Amino acid sequence: MNHPDRAAWLDGPASYCSPHPRELSRPWRLVLLGAPGVGKGTQAQLLQHELGACHLSTGDVFRAATRTKGCPASSPPMAAALHFMQRGELVPDSTVWELIRERRACLHCKGGFILDGFPRTLVQAEALETLLRQEALTLDAVVNYELPLPTIIDRLSGRRTCSQCKAVFHITQNPPKQPCVCDQCGGSLTQREDDLSEAVAVRMETYTRATVPLVHHYRGLGTLLSIVASGSPEEILQRTTKALNDRRDGVLHSA
Ligand code: AMP
Repeated sequence: MNHPDRAAWLDGPASYCSPHPRELSRPWRLVLLGAPGVGKGTQAQLLQHELGACHLSTGDVFRAATRTKGCPASSPPMAAALHFMQRGELVPDSTVWELIRERRACLHCKGGFILDGFPRTLVQAEALETLLRQEALTLDAVVNYELPLPTIIDRLSGRRTCSQCKAVFHITQNPPKQPCVCDQCGGSLTQREDDLSEAVAVRMETYTRATVPLVHHYRGLGTLLSIVASGSPEEILQRTTKALNDRRDGVLHSA
């Protein structure tokens, strides 16, 4: 599967998606929540394929910025943002918000959108709600992926990513045919800086403090759909699309 490189987002509001998303009569507009390592990014890619919606990951944009030479990545707020990211801490709301606000045209994508990694704090959630109201758009659902903590830590510490095509492997659960070499493009597999153990501890603490309150927030608004994130990526995808379609068809789900 293609992993879209979101580096284009660094070009600002003028950036566009390639290939263009499908034009849908009832596009899905979703937010994905879940602890780091729960498999949100993988589900976002599968959902993008399944639903035709555009996958927008703020984490992908910041990682692209670390690889991009040139002004956006070296602007003072972006340089500061990357230091936060490398330590496993959240980037300041103001920097993240600037990134989203500038690209709000993407929220009108004819294929819908899947926000992955945004919002991450109550401040960001409230800012998004205001923006969506201004743009006359509504969220269909906030999908919350759930998994026990020890499983999450194992997933993060074993995760390896191709430095070229961004394909994701796991050293025991989805190992490459040759150690440290990507099956798809032959690129070298590396461990994300923020998957190293110290940064993982910080990310989990940050998630509990800043992002878990969002689960309660969206449950209160009636938009939360909780999904058990165990099993294969395809099983989790099926669970997700069934819950989404049930929601659209008016079948009640416990969140
Ligand atoms: P992710 O790939 O979503 O786990 O994001 C990787 C890192 O990017 C996070 O640990 C944060 O440092 C930063 N980041 C991504 N999205 C946000 C956000 N919405 N708010 C603050 N920091 C973010």
